[in-house]
Amino acid sequence: TRGEASARRVLLKLSGETFGGGAIGLAPDVVQRVAAEIAVAVRDGVQVAVVTGGGNFFRGAELSSRGLDRARADYMGMLGTVMNALALQDFLEQAGVDTRVQTAITMGQVAEPYVPLRAIRHMEKGRVVIFGAGAGMPYFSTDTVAVQRALETHCQEVLMGKNGVDGVYTADPRTDPTAVRLDHVTYSDALLQGLSVVDSTAFSLCKDNDVRMRVFGMSDLGNVTRALQGEKIGTLVSA
Ligand code: UDP
Repeated sequence: TRGEASARRVLLKLSGETFGGGAIGLAPDVVQRVAAEIAVAVRDGVQVAVVTGGGNFFRGAELSSRGLDRARADYMGMLGTVMNALALQDFLEQAGVDTRVQTAITMGQVAEPYVPLRAIRHMEKGRVVIFGAGAGMPYFSTDTVAVQRALETHCQEVLMGKNGVDGVYTADPRTDPTAVRLDHVTYSDALLQGLSVVDSTAFSLCKDNDVRMRVFGMSDLGNVTRALQGEKIGTLVSA
């Protein structure tokens, strides 16, 4: 086989904001809740891969504006995503779900290296695969990596869990009271209108490769399970 899934297989992107509960460091209670919600979908037969963000520790762009070399700062950012991956792994295992962490920067004592065919096998066996260290390359975001990993491991959908917004809006709802949430938007429109809830590189990678994305809010209890199971929450972004 070429690894195409007959079962539902999806990639969930969790931002650093989720892991930190909006602060710096780790919010174990939040990670535990998210793990429990993932566990429900896995028991239902959904194959799940996760890409972790790292903004709760470091963002390369921010550090470089304060004097660090950009590439080195980005590596610091990537290492932060690995800590989040390990935290999620721990709570998933506590919830009885088998997991593997694969990192784009090799660290043998901590995780497997990123091997896409192996990641697919893990998912077929019911293991959640957590991808850490982004793409292993500076100047990338974990949103973009989420799309790349989804493509390479043949996930049918990219699920972007967001904090503070529950989908794609016509404008930034935090500053523009006339903003309305869209049920559906095309990648072209999202890019043209500069709807930046997901970064433009991620949108264009999806557009060029015709993969669906769902942007949804993390704050409502149960939303992670709903998104993983394919409920039509938030905003569908497609070609
Ligand atoms: N990063 C990187 N290359 C990657 C992925 C991440 O350089 O492939 C760095 C980058 O500095 C980024 C940080 O890791 O700011 C944390 O990732 P991101 O900002 O995407 O996390 P999130 O916004 O989801 O918390």
